[in-house]
Amino acid sequence: MASGGNYRNGIHKGTVKVDRPFSAPSNLRTSSSFKSKLPAATTTSSNVRRSSPASFGGAAKDDNSVPGRVRVAVRLRPQNAEELVADADFADCVELQPELKRLKLRKNNWDSDTYEFDELLTEFASQKRVYEVVAKPVVESVLDGYNGTVMAYGQTGTGKTFTLGRLGDEDTSARGIMVRSMEDILADISPQTDSISVSYLQLYMETIQDLLNPANDNISIVEDPKTGDVSLPGATLVEIRDQQSFVELLRFGEAHRFAANTKLNTESSRSHAILMVHVKRSVLEREVTFSSESDNPSHSVNTFKPPVIRKGKLVVVDLAGSERIHKSGSEGHTLEEAKSINLSLSALGKCINALAENSAHVPVRDSKLTRLLRDSFGGTARTSLIVTIGPSPRHRAETASTILFGQRAMKVENMLKIKEEFDYKSLSRRLEIQLDRLIAENERQQKAFEDEVERLTLEAQNRISEAERNYADALERERIRCQMDYMESIKKLEEKWVCSQQKHDNNDFIDETYRGEGLVGSVSEEVSEVKKLLQNEIHLRKVTEEEINNLKNQLVQFTCSEAGGNVDILKLRRMLEDEFHQKKKLEEEIMILRSQLSQVTFESDQTGRYLDRGGSGNGFSGLDSASQVRHPQFKDASNGPRTSITNLHEQVGLQKILSLLESEDANVRIHAVKVVANLAADEANQERIVEAGGLASLMMLLRSYEDETIRRVAAGAIANLAMNEANQELIMAQGGIGLFAMTAADAEDPQTLRMVAGAIANLCGNDKLQMKLRSEGGIKALLGMVKSRHPDVLSQVARGIANFAKCESRASTQGNKTGRSLLIEDGALPWIVQNANNEASLIRRHIELALCHLAQHEVNAKDMISGGALWELVRISRDCSREDIRTLARRTLTSSPTFHTEMRRLRIEVQLQL
Ligand code: ADP
Ligand code: MG
Repeated sequence: MASGGNYRNGIHKGTVKVDRPFSAPSNLRTSSSFKSKLPAATTTSSNVRRSSPASFGGAAKDDNSVPGRVRVAVRLRPQNAEELVADADFADCVELQPELKRLKLRKNNWDSDTYEFDELLTEFASQKRVYEVVAKPVVESVLDGYNGTVMAYGQTGTGKTFTLGRLGDEDTSARGIMVRSMEDILADISPQTDSISVSYLQLYMETIQDLLNPANDNISIVEDPKTGDVSLPGATLVEIRDQQSFVELLRFGEAHRFAANTKLNTESSRSHAILMVHVKRSVLEREVTFSSESDNPSHSVNTFKPPVIRKGKLVVVDLAGSERIHKSGSEGHTLEEAKSINLSLSALGKCINALAENSAHVPVRDSKLTRLLRDSFGGTARTSLIVTIGPSPRHRAETASTILFGQRAMKVENMLKIKEEFDYKSLSRRLEIQLDRLIAENERQQKAFEDEVERLTLEAQNRISEAERNYADALERERIRCQMDYMESIKKLEEKWVCSQQKHDNNDFIDETYRGEGLVGSVSEEVSEVKKLLQNEIHLRKVTEEEINNLKNQLVQFTCSEAGGNVDILKLRRMLEDEFHQKKKLEEEIMILRSQLSQVTFESDQTGRYLDRGGSGNGFSGLDSASQVRHPQFKDASNGPRTSITNLHEQVGLQKILSLLESEDANVRIHAVKVVANLAADEANQERIVEAGGLASLMMLLRSYEDETIRRVAAGAIANLAMNEANQELIMAQGGIGLFAMTAADAEDPQTLRMVAGAIANLCGNDKLQMKLRSEGGIKALLGMVKSRHPDVLSQVARGIANFAKCESRASTQGNKTGRSLLIEDGALPWIVQNANNEASLIRRHIELALCHLAQHEVNAKDMISGGALWELVRISRDCSREDIRTLARRTLTSSPTFHTEMRRLRIEVQLQL
């Protein structure tokens, strides 16, 4: 700051004692500082500058005289409409820093000069604030009996008249200094004892005109040589009683000023307008006098002096425009005129300078203005100068000279011209230090923050892993508990099932025992009847044969003895043919009777055996409707009926039986197919049946007969034949798959489906047929049958799938097959997964095996995971009751990287040891 030293161009010139009487901003802003009587300042304030030429006139100072310098405020006018457009692209030439009481005047784009003033009033400053800052202290000192001056200096159009002379008719906040001063004066005086009188003048070309009386156009100035008081006897003096009359007076004066200037062919900007307000106050002063005889204060007497009239004078000067007038007098003035127009202004400047420089000589007499202000400027008078400037860079030069005028008025020593660069350097240094401190602090905080984050993260991680561990433990416990529950309930169910099965079998047994007795009775009756019939037939045949032999003999005899017995011969031939036909018919009948007999024998045997064994019900005949059959055993375990059937076919001849398959008699066909099926159940017969064309005939039956029994039995027979590998190829070659699919589609009896599924399941076990079987729709046909839901059917389907999976796995291992399983391709996986835990243990077993086979090939792993098969495998590896399957599942799971990864993700552990 100024007190710290005066810097210029960045060079420290050393400490300069700076006198700053009004350095405290409050002094300017508040009126109270001035109210505390000026005389006091002389003794107390070292801040107050003591300059000897205290007034323009160098008037003798009495004890009360208070030296004071001109207080200077700068007011910036806002951009006007014209400037808004014209200067749009340019920066303002000045910048105010009111808080620093500084003004920066831009020199160019990068450089500017800085000046200090008592007060900086920005373009936003209100009229009220301007009054309070600039004029109010002066008005208060006038009310206290001093003279005071408020002057506005500045280029035309920058707001001098706006600041001083606005009446505020339309907008009360726009009232200028003149109006507001009168308001304060009127408010402070007492109308009974005090008086206010006003003159309003214009000074133009060193002539004083009375604005209140236009006729008075050459008023002279009179100075009292003793007191130095200045008076204008010729000027109109109007007594002011109220604000309203004052405003009217101002309006009148302003109007006259305009008229006078028009008459003089000049502009108001060339003239100075001067408002003089005389305040006379009558003051009663009490004086204390002491008696001469005694020093005792108690004897003192109070005496009153006569009232004192205190006179104060306020001069408000709206100066002419500060712009220099062209010497040529381009506006119609002669050079002399031009000189005299600005004479008063330049004289004012010189006087101000002289005062500021403490010069012994102040050239007051040089102009009318300075003479007029002689008793009101400097010295005991309080003086405020408001310098008005505009923002436009176009008037930079004028603005600069205006500012310099204001600076000179502030007193030379006081003038501060601070290089901007310096200011920035020190500021930047300060800021840099601050910045460094903040950076260091920030770094420390950052570090602390990071440490804290790290700590929190670690803590959170620990908590998470602990929670995860707890969760996994709880999950594992829950899983084991569930599994135990599950196994327990399964065990119970199985026990229940076995129990009820036994009960059921016992019931059957009782049933069968009960029915068996009747059945055996009726069957033996039937047998003996049939046997009788057979005996009869055999007897009849023998008789017929004998008769034929007789006839043959007779014929030979006749041919030998009678050469011409033609008619008889013909007769005999016909008879012979008849006999032959009859014989054939009888033979057929015999065969049917025999097959019936064998059937009946078989049935009675079955029943008998059933009774003997207590009824196991597990045998499969292939002939019956499987009412007793639960599980497919296509080979009959018992020897009795097979022996009888074998005997039968030995007796009747295989060819014959097969030929009966094509018989037109439906009964015959049914019997024949049953016989063939029974034969086919015995491996020993299978080759011969096929050789004799039995397979083709059976397939033909499937193809052409709508009777479901025939088809069921035929399918069963084919299924039995399909156990043989060579037959399997034959079946395939003859379009077996298509035929099976068709049969399955039409079948209503689940047993038909069971037979068909069994046939396909057998084919599924043939390595060579894999591709063909699949391409002809074997897998699809198999899967199509699951909708039956009959456990017999499902178990055949499961067997087929297991067979297929096994062959496929083998082929993959040997490198004969690549790519994912055809079972998966054909959409078998969902059913497999669904039934992997089927309650029927046989189905479950098949599927478990199938899953293990599929899982052995990495190429299937992804599908198996997405299809949910992994869970089943895990279950198998833990729960399967067959250890070999359990081990297989475990091995498979641990050897597949894909399963391994997935299990790690799912946190499944496969125990290697059980
Ligand atoms: P001067 O007396 O210095 O020649 P004026 O007081 O006549 O200037 O002002 C010129 C124009 O600028 C006027 O229209 C005035 O209303 C306007 N003006 C001046 N100062 C301000 C201000 N502070 N705010 C708004 N307008 C202003
Ligand atoms: Mg003006």
